[in-house]
Amino acid sequence: MEVHIAIFPSPGMGHLIPLTELARQLLCLLHRRVFVTFIIPTATGAPIKPQNDILNAMPENVTSIFLPPVDLNDLPPDASLGARISLTLARSLPALRQTLSELTHDSTRKRPSSLVVDIFGPPSFEIAKEFHISPYIFSTVSATTLVGLFHVPLLYEMFPGGLREPVTLPGCVPVQPTDFFARVHDYDQVGLFKMYNLAKGILVNSFVELEPAAFKAMEEGEWCKPDIFPVGPLIRTGSEQQTSYGFECLKWLDKHSVGSVLFVSFGSGGTLSQKQIDELAFGLEKSGQKFLWVVKSPSEKVNASYFSAKTDLDPTSFLPDGFLDRVRDRGLVVSSWIPQVEILGHSSTGGFLTHCGWNSILESIVNGVPMIGWPLYAEQQMNAVNLTDGLGVAYRVKVGENGLVERDEIEKCVRSLIEGEDGRKMRTKVVELKEGGAKALSQDGSSTRAILHVAKDTLLATSG
Ligand code: UDP
Repeated sequence: MEVHIAIFPSPGMGHLIPLTELARQLLCLLHRRVFVTFIIPTATGAPIKPQNDILNAMPENVTSIFLPPVDLNDLPPDASLGARISLTLARSLPALRQTLSELTHDSTRKRPSSLVVDIFGPPSFEIAKEFHISPYIFSTVSATTLVGLFHVPLLYEMFPGGLREPVTLPGCVPVQPTDFFARVHDYDQVGLFKMYNLAKGILVNSFVELEPAAFKAMEEGEWCKPDIFPVGPLIRTGSEQQTSYGFECLKWLDKHSVGSVLFVSFGSGGTLSQKQIDELAFGLEKSGQKFLWVVKSPSEKVNASYFSAKTDLDPTSFLPDGFLDRVRDRGLVVSSWIPQVEILGHSSTGGFLTHCGWNSILESIVNGVPMIGWPLYAEQQMNAVNLTDGLGVAYRVKVGENGLVERDEIEKCVRSLIEGEDGRKMRTKVVELKEGGAKALSQDGSSTRAILHVAKDTLLATSG
């Protein structure tokens, strides 16, 4: 029997990558003919290259349909990232309806039984309903963050002027107001989170052993209506990123000893100001440690490359004078899309200075690499709290009164992580989590059982 699942990702590599891995996992686990159609909204015209590379490398049962680009030029330049993502999806809904109608009437293929969206996608559920297609969310954020998202509407009502005190949500470690989604009152998505309860089920890219309390809270809480399925850690497995830069990084890592290199990257979208790039460069230099740093052009915005995932090709123009010469023997600076999973999986990589995107965290855990958390935007601050106070597998950099993470702070964190006693303890803990993740995805593991359960009983059931 043949089944067909439609996936509607919101813009951003951090959403697309795990959804493609979910598709791979479904194809791999289900012994029936599964077809997956990605219906991709775009805001800027031509899709970005890393996005294309990933989609082109998918198995033949996975096809992609790009929706016509929407115009966001009427948005004010300071519109939040969340607003841009949500508007891109909202303006793509008519094209989604048209596409689902065509897929539903396509006589060569079974009609889609389910529509899977990420955390921004629930406004599309109305359309799924029109076509009798079951609505699912795939949470690209942690179970802990998901608990937080469920509570945003309630917190918004309770504290309309914003949070003033630390908040302790069910199954979560206490979070300071400044760490809660970069302040709850900035979050203009209250209506979106109310729609989470319309989902038939929520698949979460995490595993029970990593966040037992948060999963239990969702199972027991009245506020969480859909069934919750922990299906992770799903991290990128495709090898489409074997670019020349990728080879250069891996070859460079081959030259160094086990666990000796710090990998520094702020994900697909994270950017630093010029002053902050200078501090980071001097901090890495002073630390005396080896490092592989993915730099992007400076920006006063913390997420300037989110939509393009682009990097600048000449980092020398914004690194301190003489820096590259001084660190020549122990530092590699690259400025392009690099194969992050392969780098984290290389035996020379001993630590990861990360912006705390959830995919980056899972990739680090799966490879047993302890972290330095340097959160920038979205839910990254909450992730950093969880890594430090909850799991104890990361340091978190302290931001000084001038708004910068200063070179001495960076030097201290890098040294401690790579050669200190605390770093060693964190490595032991993260290796335990790595083993938990591998177990969850083993043949009879908790995540494998959850994905088989949701897939067989509901995701693939032809409704209506
Ligand atoms: N990534 C990559 N190469 C890069 C930058 C990012 O492969 O040069 C991947 C990374 O491995 C992860 C994703 O892009 O899978 C970024 O997702 P994450 O949730 O960590 O952060 P976001 O970019 O969404 O903020």
